[in-house]
Amino acid sequence: MDDALDPSALQAARERLGEAREEALRRWDSVQSRVEDLRRDRAEEPADDEHDPDGPTLSSEWTMAEAQRGVVESAIAEIDAALARVEDGRYGLCLRCGRPISPERLAARPSAATCLDCARRASRSPR
Ligand SMILES: [Zn+2]
Repeated sequence: MDDALDPSALQAARERLGEAREEALRRWDSVQSRVEDLRRDRAEEPADDEHDPDGPTLSSEWTMAEAQRGVVESAIAEIDAALARVEDGRYGLCLRCGRPISPERLAARPSAATCLDCARRASRSPR
């Protein structure tokens, strides 16, 4: 079958994913140090500043930083999964419908696990 990407396209995908992974790890480091700074600040603050009227409270910044860390962690997991698919020959095929993912989509998002149709369907479907 000729659905799978050819070896040079796979090699290019592997390199792009490797770069994306390093970038994500750098982002993780900076978000993680932000989380740790906030944790330290929070430890020094009085316990009841939850309703500070002077702007965002430490706890909301903390929540945001933790949410960002979660986003970066899932991006890394997505990249790792894509790298695993490169190795076992399923890279570039939609995990939901099995059809090839368009080269344009892979170029924009090398870690894409589904084709655009399936991604749209998934984001539309009610939870
Ligand atoms: Zn699909």
